Amino acid sequence: MKKVVCLLTVLALALSLSGCAKEARGQVYAMDTVMNFTVYGRGGEEVLASMERRVRELEDLLSRTREDSEISALNAAAGEERPVSPEVYTLLERARAAAEATGGAFDPTVAPVVSAWGFGGEAYRVPGEEELKALLNTVGYSGITLKEREGKYFASLRPGQSVDLGGIAKGYASDCMADILSGAGVKHSLAALSGNILAWGAKTDGTPWRVGIRDPGRSDANVGVLLLQDAYAVTSGGYERYFEAGGKTYHHIIDPATGCPAESDLTSVTIVMDREQEELGGRAGNGTLCDALSTALFVMGEEEALAFWRGGTYDFDAVLVTADGRVVATEGLGERFIPTEGSGYAYETVS
Ligand code: FAD
Ligand code: MG
Repeated sequence: MKKVVCLLTVLALALSLSGCAKEARGQVYAMDTVMNFTVYGRGGEEVLASMERRVRELEDLLSRTREDSEISALNAAAGEERPVSPEVYTLLERARAAAEATGGAFDPTVAPVVSAWGFGGEAYRVPGEEELKALLNTVGYSGITLKEREGKYFASLRPGQSVDLGGIAKGYASDCMADILSGAGVKHSLAALSGNILAWGAKTDGTPWRVGIRDPGRSDANVGVLLLQDAYAVTSGGYERYFEAGGKTYHHIIDPATGCPAESDLTSVTIVMDREQEELGGRAGNGTLCDALSTALFVMGEEEALAFWRGGTYDFDAVLVTADGRVVATEGLGERFIPTEGSGYAYETVS
C-alpha cells in the first residue's frame, strides 16, 4: 500500500511538472503575416490577449502601409526632424547599428527600392534601370539621424529617403513577446511570428522545443530540426514573397548595392541566438538582431556570411541552405541541429 501511495505521489508530481499544464493557443494575422502563439500555465488566455494587443500596437506604430503610423509620418517628413516615441527611436537605432555592422547588406533605407518592386504592398513590377539608379541615390543608413534631448526623442531622414522596418520589426515584436511572457511569469511558450521564432523556456516535459527549418524548394518538407530552449531562431528566404515576370522570379530581399533582389547563392538563412535572461523593458534584444542578421546574411551570400560569422561581431549560430543543395550549419549548434534524413541535401558543419 505504502508503495502504491508513493508511486501515486511521484506520478502526481510528474504530471504537475509536465504534461498537465494548461495550454492556450492563439493565432494573429498582423504585419501581413500569420503569427501563432502557444502559452502554458494558468492565465494563458490573458497572456495571449496581451500578446495580440502588443503586436497590433506595434503594427500601428511601425507599418509604412498605414498612413497614420509613426514610420509613415517620419517617411513623409524626410529632410525634417520629427519627434518619435522611445520605441521607434530604439528600433531605428538598432536598425542603423545592424546596417553599419553588416556593411549595409541590411539597410532599412532601402524602402523606396522595395516599393518600386511592389514589395511594400504595391503592385509587383520590374523597375527600369534608370529608375533604380535614381532610387539608389536615396539609399544609405547614414542618412538616419537620431537625437535625444531632455528625455525626448527625435529622428530625421535625408530628403527623399524612407525607411522600411519589414526586415527587423517582427524580430522586435518577438522581443516584446518575451517581455510579456516574463512579466506574466510564464515558464513554457512558443511564439512563431511567421519566420521569427521565440522558444520561451522548454516544453512542459522539460525537453527543448523542436522547430523545423523549411526546405526552400518544397513547402511540405524540412531540411532539419532545431532543438531550442530560451532561444530565438529567425529564417529569411526568397521562397515566400516573390513574383514571376518574363520567366524570371523576383523575391523581396533586396541587395542595397544593386537595387535588385539579392542574387544570393543561398536559398535560406536561419539565425539562432540565446535569449537574454534579463527583462528588455522595450529595448531591442537578440530577437531584433536575429531578424536583421537573417536578412543581411541572405544578401551577403555563403562566403561573406560565413566570414561575418567567423568575424565574431555578434555571438550567433546559423543554418545556411545553399542553391547548390547543401545545408551548412555553424559548429556552435552541435546537437541542437538535426538534419532530415533523405532530404536530398548534403550536410556540412563549419568552424
Ligand atoms: P526578412 O528577410 O526579415 O525581411 C525582408 C523584408 O525587409 C522585405 O520584405 C523588405 O520589406 C525589407 N528588406 C528587403 N531587403 C532589405 C535589406 N537589404 N535590408 C533591410 N530590409 C530589407 N506587407 C504587405 O504587403 N502589406 C502590408 O500592409 C504590410 N504591413 C506590414 C507592417 C509591419 C509593421 C511590418 C513589420 C511588415 C508589414 N508587411 C506588409 C510585410 C513586410 O513588408 C515584409 O514583406 C515582411 O516583413 C517580410 O518579412 P520576412 O520575415 O519574410 O523577411
Ligand atoms: Mg529579417
